[in-house]
Amino acid sequence: MRKKVIAGNWKMNKVLSEAGEFMDLIVPKAPKGNVEAIVCAPFPFLPKLVEQAKGSEVKVAAQNMHFEDSGAFTGEVSPVMLKDLGVTHVVLGHSERRELFAETDELVNKKTKAAFAHDLTPIVCVGETLDQREANETMNIVGEQVKQAVAGLSNEQVAETIIAYEPVWAIGTGKTATSEQANEVCTEIRKVVAEVTSTEIAEKVIIQYGGSVKPANVDELLAQSDIDGALVGGASLDPESFLQLVEAGT
Ligand code: PGA
Repeated sequence: MRKKVIAGNWKMNKVLSEAGEFMDLIVPKAPKGNVEAIVCAPFPFLPKLVEQAKGSEVKVAAQNMHFEDSGAFTGEVSPVMLKDLGVTHVVLGHSERRELFAETDELVNKKTKAAFAHDLTPIVCVGETLDQREANETMNIVGEQVKQAVAGLSNEQVAETIIAYEPVWAIGTGKTATSEQANEVCTEIRKVVAEVTSTEIAEKVIIQYGGSVKPANVDELLAQSDIDGALVGGASLDPESFLQLVEAGT
């Protein structure tokens, strides 16, 4: 039985005091057990949030990182720095990074390897654009993104990778993929993982759906055979709504 993983991706929102208030509210109330709650926050909030999450099962993630350990990379944050802070997860290859910051599959692969080199769990985002879906390219595009992201990882590392299927047309648009559409692609992702590793490994991989997930649609999504959680943007900003989403995973 795979656990459910609910990750709130704040993107570039909140200020430090708001981030702290959010954690104060959710840490004591977050359900335990077969659900994992992860808060993916902007870099400047991470030390405080890690401190606040101590002793609880709430995990703190970064939304991006560089793949080098250190050096002349002005403005970048390294996996070494994240690990040192006590961050446990890192979102990689989010469609906004791919689109707005020109991140390629090759770069996402380097970052994924760097995450494992520093004992951080990557949440690797994949997903098709509307044009690609309409041209019936969804499975090819997503399959290729998955293959490239995990290239060169050991089977054990692939098993630990969290894959977030986020159709680009459903992000922040209010348009959710139907739960069947979402599951169809997540099932395909698991097949691709099985192809590059084994069925046994593929059965262990956590596959999240992301794109306009909210308390009103989360139950149906999580009830699908291959959806093991959600990566949530807009609806994760409000603590009550985030807690409802986490609760849905129990
Ligand atoms: P959304 O964002 O829930 O606001 O659609 C999801 C994401 O980008 O991870």
